[in-house]
Amino acid sequence: MNAIWKVVVVVVLTGSVVAVMALKQSGKGKKGQVAAEAPTVPVTAVAQDDAQGSSATERKQALPRLVDLGSNTCIPCKMMVPVLDELKKEYAGRLSVEFYDVREDPSVGAKYGIRVIPTQIFFDASGKELFRHEGFIAKEDIVAKFKECGVDLAAGASLAPTFKRLVPARVDDRPKDSICYMCDGNIDPKTLVTVATDKGPVRLCSPHCYFIMYSCLTEDKTGFEKKVTTTDWTAGTAVAISEAAFLYGQDETTGRPWVRAFADRDDAVADRAASGGNVLALEPLRQKEMSHRCGFCDRACYPQDAAEVIVEGGVRTWGCCSHCALGVAARTGKDIEVHEKDRLTKQAIVVKTFGGKITSLEPSTAVAWFGQRQKPDGAWGSAGCFHQGFFTNAENLKKWVQQSPCETGRLISINQALADKMKLSPEQIQKACKIGECAPK
Ligand SMILES: [Zn+2]
Ligand SMILES: [Zn+2]
Repeated sequence: MNAIWKVVVVVVLTGSVVAVMALKQSGKGKKGQVAAEAPTVPVTAVAQDDAQGSSATERKQALPRLVDLGSNTCIPCKMMVPVLDELKKEYAGRLSVEFYDVREDPSVGAKYGIRVIPTQIFFDASGKELFRHEGFIAKEDIVAKFKECGVDLAAGASLAPTFKRLVPARVDDRPKDSICYMCDGNIDPKTLVTVATDKGPVRLCSPHCYFIMYSCLTEDKTGFEKKVTTTDWTAGTAVAISEAAFLYGQDETTGRPWVRAFADRDDAVADRAASGGNVLALEPLRQKEMSHRCGFCDRACYPQDAAEVIVEGGVRTWGCCSHCALGVAARTGKDIEVHEKDRLTKQAIVVKTFGGKITSLEPSTAVAWFGQRQKPDGAWGSAGCFHQGFFTNAENLKKWVQQSPCETGRLISINQALADKMKLSPEQIQKACKIGECAPK
C-alpha cells in the first residue's frame, strides 16, 4: 500500500501544479481536469465524516476545522502557507487549522481520499465534512465558503467594538444618599444597611448588598460588625446589625432569598406568620449569605442572580457577573462551561472553553457588554460586576443600553471578554472586584 501510494503522490504532485497553473492561465478551469490528471485514490469512510478519525483532543475542542493536504515542495501548496498562518491567528479559538504533508506521510492522503494537492477539506465542529477544494484558495474564500456552509467564523468577533456609549444618555441625578454603594440600585429605607468608614458612612440597599461588600473587603474583618447598622423593618429605625433578628425567606417563583431585619425578635416571629421564612440571628444569616461565592472574585452571590459555571471535572460554581463567570477559566486554569442568561430577555447563553479559548458559543450571535466608567483621572475602568452582561445578540444589547440611560461601556465579543480575563496575572485575579480595586468609587 505504501509503495503504491508514494508513486501516487509523486504523480499527483506533478499533476496538481500543472493543473493549478492551467487554471490560472485559462481562468475557467474545471475540477474535472485536475482529477483527470491525477490517479484515483480509494476514498475511505473517514473522508466523509472525520469524527472517528480525529484525536480525542480535537473532538473535545469541538471547533470547525480546515484540513490542508499538500507538500512543502509544490508551488500552490507553498502559497497556502501564509493563508493558513493568517487563519490560525485571526480565528484562534474558533477554527482549527491543520496541515499535512502527504509526501512525508502518504497515509494521510489516503485517509482523506484526496486526488490532488493541495486539497482543503472543510469540517464543521461535529466533524462532518462540508466541502472540499482543490488547488490554491484565498483566505477570504475559505471564510466565505465556511459561511456558505453555515459556519460563521466571524460570529461575535465580527461585531467587535462597533457599539459603545461613553457618555451617559442621562446623568444619574439621584441624591447620593439614595444610591446603594454596591449595586447602584435605589435604597429602600426599610432595608438600609450603613457601614461607618473613615471616609464617612457607606450606604447599602439591603443586608444582601452588605454581605457582598463584606465578602470583597480586603481589610481585617475582626470586629467589623461594630461599624454596621441595619434597619428595623417595622419602625424604620437603625439597629446594630449584631443585635438584629433577621427574617430570611425565599421568593416562591424564583427561589431568590429576601432578608428583613428587626430590632425585636418577637416582631420577626410575628412577620414570619404572615410572610413565611425563618428567623435567624446574624451568624447563621452570614453563613447562608456567604455559602455561594463567585468562582472568580469570591464575592457572595445568590445563584438566582449569578451565571452557573461548570468546571472541567464536574465542579459547579458561579460567576457573580458574566465576565466573572469567564474568569473562572483564568483562575482555575481549567476548561469551563458557562450558563448565563441574556440580561434583557433571560434567554439562555452557553459558552464552552478549551485551553483558555472559546470553542462553542450558543447562540453564536451572543455578545458581551463591558460596562466601563471614567475614573476621576480620566482613565477608563470596569464599572463593576453589577454593570456587566451577556446578550444573545447585539440588538438585545442595544435595547438594554437604551433602557439603561446611565450605563456607559462598550460591546465586546465574548471571545474578547474571555481573552481579557485570561491575560490577568494571579496577583490581578487576587485583587479582582475587591473594594477599592474595581469600581471607581
Ligand atoms: Zn445594593
Ligand atoms: Zn465575581
